[in-house]
Amino acid sequence: MQQARPLPTVVQALDAVLYLAGGAEVIDAISSWWVITHGHSQPEIAAAIAEQACRLDQVIFAEFTHEPAEEVARELVALLPPGLAHVFFSDNGSTAVEIALKMALQACRQRGEPRRTRFLAFSEAYHGDTVGAMSVGAAGVFTEPYRELLFPVLRAGQGRCSDDPPEAWLGDFRALLERHHAELAAVILEPLIQGAGGMIVWPEAAVREIAELCRRAGVLLIFDEVMTGFGRTGALFALEKLGVTPDLLCLSKGLTGGALPLAATIATRQVYAAFLSEDRRRTFFHGHSFTANPIACAAAAANLRLLAEPAVRARWRRIEAIHRQRLARLAGRPILRDGRCCGIVAAVELASPRAGYLDAIGPALHDHALARGVLLRPLGHILYILPPFSITDEQLHRVWDVVEECMALAERQAARP
Ligand SMILES: *Cc1c(COP(=O)(O)O)cnc(C)c1O
Repeated sequence: MQQARPLPTVVQALDAVLYLAGGAEVIDAISSWWVITHGHSQPEIAAAIAEQACRLDQVIFAEFTHEPAEEVARELVALLPPGLAHVFFSDNGSTAVEIALKMALQACRQRGEPRRTRFLAFSEAYHGDTVGAMSVGAAGVFTEPYRELLFPVLRAGQGRCSDDPPEAWLGDFRALLERHHAELAAVILEPLIQGAGGMIVWPEAAVREIAELCRRAGVLLIFDEVMTGFGRTGALFALEKLGVTPDLLCLSKGLTGGALPLAATIATRQVYAAFLSEDRRRTFFHGHSFTANPIACAAAAANLRLLAEPAVRARWRRIEAIHRQRLARLAGRPILRDGRCCGIVAAVELASPRAGYLDAIGPALHDHALARGVLLRPLGHILYILPPFSITDEQLHRVWDVVEECMALAERQAARP
């Protein structure tokens, strides 16, 4: 707070544009922290929210059900591979992950495998900011002050998963799995793109191999698709591209189109079966005040209806094509350490002597971009673009122009003695 400058006030947001008090316009190139799908203030979603708010605002979900929740659960299950059949609602990505961890642990115990109490996660992982989610996330500046609260986790992929070919860090995973498979409740990962870790794109074959090894070892697999879900990878879910069915799937961020908080943890029939019992101690003990809030569910149902329109997938392909075209233009620039793209997510990693989240270049590039009317939030020395689907070609090119300006700025800074 001591370093904070007064923040601009946003008075309106439409499609990909934020309108600030005083008249400035900013292109939201990061979908307001990866939540907006179609665009800001999407009319169908807004109408669904308004209508639901006047009909049924909130009701205790431990006691009743309601059509918006039923519809979202039904539609999600219809969109997912056949195995993933049971939806548990909560309100944000971190709780979706906490729920998956608790379900995995309890399912193992109730299947008669009480030794399976540990989790395996990957280096550079990010799964949220609550204590369990932080524990499975990579240690770093985000988690250091809370170290004493975190439970120990097996960590695969020593060093940067992006720098080394997958053979290097997959070997590490195989060795850990081999040694510890009997103690493992679950493996958790962000399939295809590790988001907060730096938009690190994993080869599909690596994720498939991890999934297959988990299956053979009888270890549950949790896909955290809180960021990758709802089109980011160029498919509705990363698991669709991979052809993999995890045992547990975490969704949030884009679930309501980004308009309201809502999350879902989706379990297979087998995981669900571990809780079916006459014995009430086998209940899955987890309930939030706002579980399956009807207004949020109505927003999600509207979002899912919009996602079914073929024009949406065409838009993902177009955004990816522009990303690839603009990335190709950057090749050979000395400041470019790596350029990568997966679906509508593109990242430009800069060569920086002090790479890391607190890299001073990040704020400088952020400020430059904002002054030029584009919202970017560099992850240290990594610039990325993750736009709402309704961004126009012209707006997207403008974002890329500003990314190129940021690169020029970084080149000038690097050239300084
Ligand atoms: C953002 C994110 C989370 C946490 O979601 P919140 O809604 O911010 O709690 C968890 N996992 C991944 C992969 C994320 O990107």
